[in-house]
Amino acid sequence: MAKLRKQEALDYHSNGRPGKIEVIPSKPYATQRDLSLAYSPGVAEPCLEIAENPENVYKYTAKSNLVGVISNGTAVLGLGDIGPEASKPVMEGKGLLFKIFADIDVFDIEVDTKDPQRFIDTVKAISPTFGGINLEDIKAPEAFEIEERLKAELNIPIMHDDQHGTAIISSAALLNALELAKKKIARVKIVISGAGAAALSCSKLYLALGAKPNNLFMFDSKGLLTTLRTGLDKYKTQFAIHKKDISLEEALKGADVFLGLSKGGIISKNMIKSMAKNPIVFALANPDPEISYNDAMSVRQDIIMATGRSDHPNQVNNVIGFPYIFRGALDVRATCINEEMKLAAVKAIASLAKEVVPEEVNEAYNEKNISFGRDSIIPKPIDPRLIYTVSPAVAKAAMDSGVAQNPIKDWDEYIAVLKN
Ligand code: NAP
Ligand code: MG
Repeated sequence: MAKLRKQEALDYHSNGRPGKIEVIPSKPYATQRDLSLAYSPGVAEPCLEIAENPENVYKYTAKSNLVGVISNGTAVLGLGDIGPEASKPVMEGKGLLFKIFADIDVFDIEVDTKDPQRFIDTVKAISPTFGGINLEDIKAPEAFEIEERLKAELNIPIMHDDQHGTAIISSAALLNALELAKKKIARVKIVISGAGAAALSCSKLYLALGAKPNNLFMFDSKGLLTTLRTGLDKYKTQFAIHKKDISLEEALKGADVFLGLSKGGIISKNMIKSMAKNPIVFALANPDPEISYNDAMSVRQDIIMATGRSDHPNQVNNVIGFPYIFRGALDVRATCINEEMKLAAVKAIASLAKEVVPEEVNEAYNEKNISFGRDSIIPKPIDPRLIYTVSPAVAKAAMDSGVAQNPIKDWDEYIAVLKN
């Protein structure tokens, strides 16, 4: 993709009506009669039905298809703590993606507080509006407490996408990369650079998929997390496993997997050379990976590499997850997004990468035969099959794990609706 110019990006946002989203009525409004149904006096009837039974809010309002994308602007993209107003373009962008990929409506909400308790109170207070909540770009470790508390205290699907979206997509990529490398997840040595929101959540999901704690080596900006380190918060402490301190360079010797969710340019070609056969290198720091795609590929033929970038193969992009995970969760009115639902999304995304790619996907990427292999371990973001593969898998996992309040009865019909 040609490099974007600053002015082009600014014009895109400011041209015409500023911003990227608008509200469109979904009922007729042409006549006086329509208006008296839409508002007073007709609107009183659904109000009374809902007052009598709150469940009716799902029947008479937009709640069931409405997700709140909520941020305080403390960890925006790779830009850091730029504040709630400056985060709004990102939240509107997320709204656009929810709508175009899964037909989910979004209100973006930017909250002016860094205090976790105030943030939690605010989200709880406005939660009746929403069918689900996507927490976005909130700094760690505050984001962990915020998500944990809101999940415990509310009964709608809630997901902090920077943690779990990344974990789900990179796990799908990992399962497929391991299959290509002919390695078992329980046996591989995994070196993780980064101990923030994304890295911790990815590592937890890798453990749930069968990775062994003793085979994980997690580094933050100060070095390996070890039992010798003092002052680690409770989230990092879970991964302070090893007794001996070693460097990132030493840890990478013979490692099967490198997961980078830290900072650009911290891995050398020599470190890649020292890894085991068929090394899996997910250098996901954005916009500059821990090692550039070209540098890593230049030193080894047998590498399986992913980055967060769209200009190289295997882009780990959350957009192949969150729209469809929320679609499935909303459609069965799940009370949460639980581990079973996340694992179902991982498996559905991983399997889809192994199916024959539809012609429209080849055309969109100007390629001939995109097919499962080192350069294609995860589906492309515009793959039209994602919605009718991932959403039903998530919905079914919600039902099987007992959190679906409105189970799907006819799967063929559900999938047919998703295809439209
Ligand atoms: P975060 O919560 O701020 O965490 C960053 C982590 O990196 C911290 O644990 C930090 O250490 C560590 N770190 C910084 N410099 C390091 C170094 N030289 N060596 C080892 N660790 C170092 O940020 P995040 O949300 O997890 O995101 C991290 C990176 O991943 C960003 O570049 C982000 O853009 C990228 N990301 C990519 C994707 C994707 O590709 N789909 C998804 C999510 C995130 P301390 O804890 O000591 O500060
Ligand atoms: Mg984000």
